[in-house]
Amino acid sequence: MPSEFELIGRYFARPTPSADLGVGDDAALLRLAAGHQCVVSTDMLVEGTHFVAGTDPRRLGWKTVAVSISDLAAMAARPRWATLAVSLPDDDEAWLGGFASGVHACCEAHGVELIGGDTTRGPRNLCATVLGEVPTGQAVTRAGAHEGDDIWISGQPGRAALALARVLDGTSADGSLPAEFLEALEAPRPRLALGLALRGLASAMLDVSDGLLGDLAHILERSGVGARLIDGLLPLRALIDSGADPRRAREALLGGGDDYELLFCAPVAARRRIVSLCDAVATPLHRIGTVVAETGRLELALDDGRCHPLQPTGFRHFTGEKADN
Ligand code: ADP
Ligand code: MG
Repeated sequence: MPSEFELIGRYFARPTPSADLGVGDDAALLRLAAGHQCVVSTDMLVEGTHFVAGTDPRRLGWKTVAVSISDLAAMAARPRWATLAVSLPDDDEAWLGGFASGVHACCEAHGVELIGGDTTRGPRNLCATVLGEVPTGQAVTRAGAHEGDDIWISGQPGRAALALARVLDGTSADGSLPAEFLEALEAPRPRLALGLALRGLASAMLDVSDGLLGDLAHILERSGVGARLIDGLLPLRALIDSGADPRRAREALLGGGDDYELLFCAPVAARRRIVSLCDAVATPLHRIGTVVAETGRLELALDDGRCHPLQPTGFRHFTGEKADN
C-alpha cells in the first residue's frame, strides 16, 4: 500500500513555475503582481451532501476546483493557485487517478497551479482553496447594485437541478437527458472569461450556487436594493425542450442550485457592451430584470402586467399559487 507521501507525489505534485515554492515544503511561497489584491475562496464537497457516492471521479476532481474558480470569476478576479485538502476512505488508485486527472485538467484549463494541500483518511470530503489576484479596487462585489440597473444571468441556469433530479430517480442515463445537463451538474464550467470581461461593467455580481432567487437576495441585501424579474425574459425554453414540464422548469431555473452561472447587475448604459460580450466569451447572456429601490423587494412581472411577490426560498409556493389561479 503506497504511503501518503507516495500518493501525493504520484497524483498531486506537479511543477509550479509561477510559485516561488510549491508542493513539498511546510507551506508554499507566492508573489503577487504589484498593484494587485489577493483574492481567496474555499469550497468543500462532501459525499452524500454535495455529490452522490459513485460519481465519476474525474468529473468530481474537475468540480472540486471549478466551484472555487467560479467564486473568483464572480469577483472579476484571475485565479492563479490552488490548494487541495482531501479526506479519502481508502487509496483506491483507479479512483485517485481519475480524481487527480480532473483536478489537474480544471487547473490547467484556467491557468491555475496546484501549490499544496493535505491528504488524510476519513469520509470522502474534497476541498479546494483557490487564490488569485485582481487589480487593487477592481473586484466586483455583491454590494454595488443601484436602482435602475439591469439584472443579467449567464448561460442556462436550471440544468444542474434537473440533472440532479434525474440522477436521484435513476433515469439520468436513459438517453433522454441532454449530456450538457449532466455535465452542468457534474463538471460545471466556471464563467471565468465572462467574469474577467465584466470588470468595470458589472455593478454587483455573484455565482449562483444555491439557486438564482436565493443568491439574488444576497445581492439585494448587500446592495440595499430590490429586484423585479420579468417573466417573459426568463430563459425557460431550453429547460422545457429537455422534457421538463413548464412548472418544473421554472422551479429549476429560479430555485435550483449548483449551476455556477454568473448573476450580475449593470447600468442600462452598459447594455450594448454586455450584449457584445456574448460572442467574445462564447456565453449566452440573458437580461432578466431590473433593480428597484425598495430594499429586499423581490417580485416577478407577468406578461399581463401584474406583479407577483417572490420568496427567495418559497418559489414552490409561488408556482403552486400560480397554477391554482
Ligand atoms: P505538513 O505535514 O507539513 O502539513 P504534509 O505532509 O501534509 O505537510 O504535505 C506534504 C506536502 O504535500 C505539502 O507541501 C503539502 O502542501 C502537499 N500536499 C499534501 N496533500 C496534497 C494534495 N492533496 N494536493 C496537493 N498537495 C498536497
Ligand atoms: Mg509541516
